[in-house]
Amino acid sequence: MLALDQVPRHLVVVGGSYVGLEFAQIYRRFGADVTVVEKSPRLISREDEDVSEGIRQILEAEGIRVRTKAECISLAPHRDGVAIGVNCVEGPPEAIGSHVLLAVGRRPNTDDLGLDRAGVEVDERGNIKVDDSLATNVPGIWALGDCNGRGAFTHTAYNDFEIVAANLLDGEHRKVSARIPVYALYTDPPLGRVGMTDTQARGSGRPLLTSKRPMTRVGRAVEKGETRGFMKVVADAETRKILGAAILGTGGDEAIHGVIDIMNADATLDVLRWAVPIHPTVSELFPTLLLDLKPAGS
Ligand SMILES: Cc1cc2nc3c(=O)[nH]c(=O)nc-3n(C[C@H](O)[C@H](O)[C@H](O)COP(=O)(O)OP(=O)(O)OC[C@H]3O[C@@H](n4cnc5c(N)ncnc54)[C@H](O)[C@@H]3O)c2cc1C
Repeated sequence: MLALDQVPRHLVVVGGSYVGLEFAQIYRRFGADVTVVEKSPRLISREDEDVSEGIRQILEAEGIRVRTKAECISLAPHRDGVAIGVNCVEGPPEAIGSHVLLAVGRRPNTDDLGLDRAGVEVDERGNIKVDDSLATNVPGIWALGDCNGRGAFTHTAYNDFEIVAANLLDGEHRKVSARIPVYALYTDPPLGRVGMTDTQARGSGRPLLTSKRPMTRVGRAVEKGETRGFMKVVADAETRKILGAAILGTGGDEAIHGVIDIMNADATLDVLRWAVPIHPTVSELFPTLLLDLKPAGS
């Protein structure tokens, strides 16, 4: 996809998740008409609804068409290119594109490795089964990176290496379960994420504190003229530890690291609340955001 030397007239992206949305925006900005077809009721459905809606608004404002609830996706030749049957609840039943990008998820390339001959177990998705130290069921064989299904990122693959190297060479007892989930969606503006979504936090049954601030109230975003999106945080009301945060907005992939570091330090939100950040940055709003924490649902 990155090597394509022409701009598609109309790119239809099947799959409205991280990879699909990044390429949708890239090719829209190259000048292609772009339609995203997603079978869920909303884009990046693993995220909270406000994040999905925020991304949708950002993409639609650039002229990207979004078709959700596309239950039965089918492809057929058409005189103008490809007809993508989308069978959506709303809108016409077909999208006609000149090119199609299938971005419906990845699975590890483990079927041709002869793992069965070595006796290494894989799950039904082809992920190599590992324990908390990334060891397989066969002594002396570890599985690192995407192939173990425990992360889907360059940084998790690298951390897998760090865990195994530390345990094998330095006598440590590092576990993959100690890793706090972090990632970014590289649209413009990006989405920086750490820890639980609000939905996951609510599902944990803990008493929660939440706070949200639109980027229109972040000085740095105003100065850059990039005020789309918001930042938000969810914390445990009893332990006062941050459970998760999201920044959909300019610099969000960098600014989220302030929260990542506090969570890794296992410090309470009060440490970040009283930190003195640099003005004018996106990060400087985190203490203010935490000052606004309210019990969830109020
Ligand atoms: C479009 C896209 C965008 C992404 N964006 C991000 C991002 O912004 N940030 C992020 O953190 N992650 C991102 N990822 C995910 C990231 O690329 C992967 O999680 C990461 O590359 C996993 O590293 P890995 O070493 O496990 O696997 P890979 O990087 O896939 O490396 C596996 C290597 O093994 C080789 N190989 C496969 N089979 C064999 C074999 N039988 N014999 C020998 N060699 C073999 C492959 O050729 C490859 O070189 C993105 C992925 C995609 C597809």
